[in-house]
Amino acid sequence: MNGKPVPQAVIVGAGFGGLNAALRLAHYPVRITLIDRTNHHTFQPLLYQVATAGLSPGEIAAPIRWIVRGRRNIEVLLGEVQDFDLERRLVKLPDRELPYDYLIVAAGASHAYFGHDEWEPLAPGLKTIEDALEIRRRVLLAFELAERQAASGLGQVQLNFVIVGGGPTGVELAGTLSEIARRALADEFDSIDPKRTRIILLEGGPRILPAYPEDLSRSAEEQLRGLGVEVHTSTMVTGVEPAAVRMGATSLSAVVILWAAGVAASPLGRKLGAPVDRAGRVLVNPDLSIPGHREVFVTGDLAALKDASGQMVPGVAPAAIQQGKAAASNIVRDLEGKPRKDFHYLNKGSLATIGRAAAIAQFGKIHISGFIAWLSWLFVHIFFLIGFRNRLIVLIQWAWSYFTYERGARLITGDQTLPSWPYLQQQESSPGKRTKTG
Ligand SMILES: Cc1cc2nc3c(=O)[nH]c(=O)nc-3n(C[C@H](O)[C@H](O)[C@H](O)COP(=O)(O)OP(=O)(O)OC[C@H]3O[C@@H](n4cnc5c(N)ncnc54)[C@H](O)[C@@H]3O)c2cc1C
Repeated sequence: MNGKPVPQAVIVGAGFGGLNAALRLAHYPVRITLIDRTNHHTFQPLLYQVATAGLSPGEIAAPIRWIVRGRRNIEVLLGEVQDFDLERRLVKLPDRELPYDYLIVAAGASHAYFGHDEWEPLAPGLKTIEDALEIRRRVLLAFELAERQAASGLGQVQLNFVIVGGGPTGVELAGTLSEIARRALADEFDSIDPKRTRIILLEGGPRILPAYPEDLSRSAEEQLRGLGVEVHTSTMVTGVEPAAVRMGATSLSAVVILWAAGVAASPLGRKLGAPVDRAGRVLVNPDLSIPGHREVFVTGDLAALKDASGQMVPGVAPAAIQQGKAAASNIVRDLEGKPRKDFHYLNKGSLATIGRAAAIAQFGKIHISGFIAWLSWLFVHIFFLIGFRNRLIVLIQWAWSYFTYERGARLITGDQTLPSWPYLQQQESSPGKRTKTG
């Protein structure tokens, strides 16, 4: 050692950005504290598989301590960061303050309900393992409650699953729920016919997957319809009720409502005092630091930055990974007395899955749909999963369910009530009160 004090880096968030920043910095003489409010890193692209009972939580998430094991200069802390003191260079947790020389904030994003937070308990979104388990609970419970009612001679309640938002998450949820109703559960109930379930995807804009070229959007819509999903574009949701979704004067009855319509950056972004965009993302400098504080970096979904072509860097895992590594490299360049480098996003292509053997992919000018796109999606996602064991298990699970249509994680945990159920029962007993389209 040359006698210089070892700098302290604090990284907030062990998602794609924070974790990759920590792993890169770990090769250098820096003390690193990695803080997350959960003890695990979640592979969000496969959350929908947990929500739809295809995979179990442990197969798509891994303990942070286990991931960084053996890196002696990384300290892992479980805790929720609440604030910062940028002048005194402190990170504030409920019970302590942590000093830093460098700070990387990689706290990601969450759902946005367009100012209607009261809709959240009625229409959960998908961002965490807990969200996925709650969605799984509601979906599976809906079939069980319908079966129980039908078994007591009261007829089959119309099961409408309504998904709000036609981005990648809404599309993958809709496609997979349709497969569950039409295939996985088709022959398992005595008193109801799960195939009569309606899966309805509502999108406010003129087309689903708007971030993709038009031909791929169209193909995705056709593939979804092929799987039995009803797709309604240019349909703006104006209200969410316990058992219905409202679109202006029209109302659609729903046993389960899922929210995939909006994203808001972590509230930690605003605590940095730097300018933010409408979604609360921090407007970072080209080297990913924030204006006026060269020692503070923001990465991933929490950062807003334009790439070389003037386009916003998208909120996707590869961008967060690249930014985490770039922020760490700039810290190392400071320590080595070298000038910092601006961040350049390398877009290796985009993939969106729709269901079994259904997906779209864009690699530059090459646009692919259907089985080949789905295979590419599958291999890319398995390749990036953390841990060889998880990769192997997920590959086997997928191969198994591809041929059998089985969904191995169909467990209902938690309570056995649905916010919609009492209202739907009332509608059944007084059909005159039914909503217009339901
Ligand atoms: C359902 C879903 C599907 C997706 N599918 C894809 C896909 O197919 N392909 C793709 O490229 N991208 C996909 N994405 C987007 C991708 O997951 C994100 O772009 C990526 O996770 C962003 O990484 P990040 O490090 O910025 O944030 P995250 O990965 O969200 O990590 C943020 C971390 O910060 C922690 N944290 C937050 N607040 C605090 C706090 N106050 N204190 C302590 N810790 C905190 C969180 O617990 C979390 O671990 C998907 C996202 C979702 C939700």
